This record gives sequence, structure tokens and C-alpha cells, in this order.
Amino acid sequence: MPAAGRPVSRPDARTPVRTCIGCRGRGGRSDLVRVVVVEGVLVPDPRARIAGRGAWLHPDPACLDLAVRRRALARALRAEVSPDVTAVRIELERRHAEQRSEPSSTPHDG
Ligand SMILES: [Zn+2]
Repeated sequence: MPAAGRPVSRPDARTPVRTCIGCRGRGGRSDLVRVVVVEGVLVPDPRARIAGRGAWLHPDPACLDLAVRRRALARALRAEVSPDVTAVRIELERRHAEQRSEPSSTPHDG
């Protein structure tokens, strides 16, 4: 008798997949950080609560740099974006440091 009832790990088609506007890599909502433009200034929206058009970035300052260099922000957000992206950079660096400080082994594997 085959073992039944075991959850099969496969991507759920209904899970929203976001594309990082920096490296164009894909990730789920929890993998990427939402950013929005408020009065011309790019700000992080980690809880995705700010209304309006948003863009998504990996929690990695390198992806922000890529997005700025490729002018992907203004295109994705359809707005004038100030070149000062310090607020978002701080948020991404913080998230980046948090990820690196996590243990690499998964405690509930199996
Ligand atoms: Zn990225």
C-alpha cells in the first residue's frame, strides 16, 4: 500500500510570483521587498500596505543598485523617482544582514 496523504512539495499555481526589478529574478511575496514611490521618493513597504503602484526587489542592496542603474524604478513604478534611495537601501541592508545571520541548516528538515 503506497504512503498517501503526504504533502507533495510543488509550486502552487496560485502563489503570486514577483519579479525583482533589479536582477529580474523571481520570488514569492515573502522573498521580495515591496517598494513604492511616495511624493517622488522611493520608500520600502515591507508589509505591502501602501496603496498605489509597487515594485519588488530582493532584500539585497545589489538588486537596488541594478534597478537604479537600469532606470527600472521609474519604468516599473510609472513615476518620477528621486535618485536618493537611501530609505530603501537601509531596509534592504537590514533584511540582507538578517538573512545572513540565520543558520544555514533547516531545523525542521524531514
Ligand atoms: Zn534581485
